[in-house]
Amino acid sequence: MTAFHTVNGVLHAEQVACARIAEQHQTPTYVYSLQALNTAFSSFQAGLIGHDHLICFAVKANPSLAILNVFARMGAGFDIVSGGELARVLAAGGDPNKIVFSGVGKSHQEIRAALEAGIFCFNVESINELHRIQAVAESMNAIAPISLRVNPNVDAKTHPYISTGLKNNKFGVAFEDALALYQTAASLSHIAVHGVDCHIGSQITELSPFLDALDKVLGLVDALATHGIHIQHIDVGGGVGITYSDETPPDFAVYTQAILKKLAGRQVKVLFEPGRALVGNAGILLTKVEYLKPGESKNFAIVDAAMNDLMRPALYDAYHHITAIVPADAPSQVYEVVGPVCESGDFLGHDRALSIAEGDYLAIHSAGAYGMSMASNYNTRGRAAEVLVDGDTVHLIRERERISDLFKLERVLP
Ligand SMILES: *Cc1c(COP(=O)(O)O)cnc(C)c1O
Repeated sequence: MTAFHTVNGVLHAEQVACARIAEQHQTPTYVYSLQALNTAFSSFQAGLIGHDHLICFAVKANPSLAILNVFARMGAGFDIVSGGELARVLAAGGDPNKIVFSGVGKSHQEIRAALEAGIFCFNVESINELHRIQAVAESMNAIAPISLRVNPNVDAKTHPYISTGLKNNKFGVAFEDALALYQTAASLSHIAVHGVDCHIGSQITELSPFLDALDKVLGLVDALATHGIHIQHIDVGGGVGITYSDETPPDFAVYTQAILKKLAGRQVKVLFEPGRALVGNAGILLTKVEYLKPGESKNFAIVDAAMNDLMRPALYDAYHHITAIVPADAPSQVYEVVGPVCESGDFLGHDRALSIAEGDYLAIHSAGAYGMSMASNYNTRGRAAEVLVDGDTVHLIRERERISDLFKLERVLP
């Protein structure tokens, strides 16, 4: 049984009717399933048993302490992109020696904090960052383990905003420069070259871009070996897509087997950085229909969730399946599902056929990744509550933000 399923048309999260959650915790509320998180992680890992590996959950996909803690208990590592994410992982009980630190803008303080924590590896994105890490490590009398994030220049065939492996974007170092940069890195006194890293984009639904990128990385690993630089781990990044509507991403077993096959015969640890694939379909966003508003050419369903709660539709024109959580006898009509925010781009779904009345609750599906993590306070809206369902138990894992929380850091002039 999948974590989110209907019983006689009534949507459940595990054994709990979603209407019960909406009534108890109000809306908008993110609802996650513990079973779905556990299943996603263990099925990703299943294909890797027997090969030296580390699965580093990409924290930015969903940085909830409770969710990080669930993964930490399962033995996960973490891919972080800021000092804030480092602090979160440590607060959630994550093992510092399983953390990789990605991102193009690591500050002195962030590098220092990561060295103090004793992270597994820095994924270095530029020559100047490499020198900065060297300088910070030297000042602390520490050795910084590093990989270079190389840009294999493959087309991930995904949305341009979430494609990161092409020449014209800000991530990683150019493939052609990698060998020379590794030689520089190997010559630095407080840098230890450990790995090679690449991450080509997100919501990738085909296998070939991953394998093309890995082929290029392996070519580099071999070239490095001829120059006396021996790589201990290969980080293949994240980016495995999920089904939002009718996409057919490779399943985890197919993906991990294809990667391992290319690594056959090599004594190398393999790192993965999945984000969306572990949490995307483990969460939904519950929202209430505030108004049904017939328009001149469109009917609007105005709901209490908005682009500040779930930004993906406004940002990427992303599709999320939307359903009523209980069957209704209202006539089916086609709606623009929109939020209360004062932007024409504030929509959650276009042209959705729904049988709904004012006061009904809707579920916005596949909202576990890049949902709450991208939420903002635009329009002075407090962020949603979050609950994690385990069987028949609903755990509140983040309270709804109060309006007073929103301005407690502000000052007016004396
Ligand atoms: C965002 C990101 C990930 C995770 O991407 P998903 O598509 O969510 O799997 C992994 N690694 C890096 C460096 C990232 O920036």
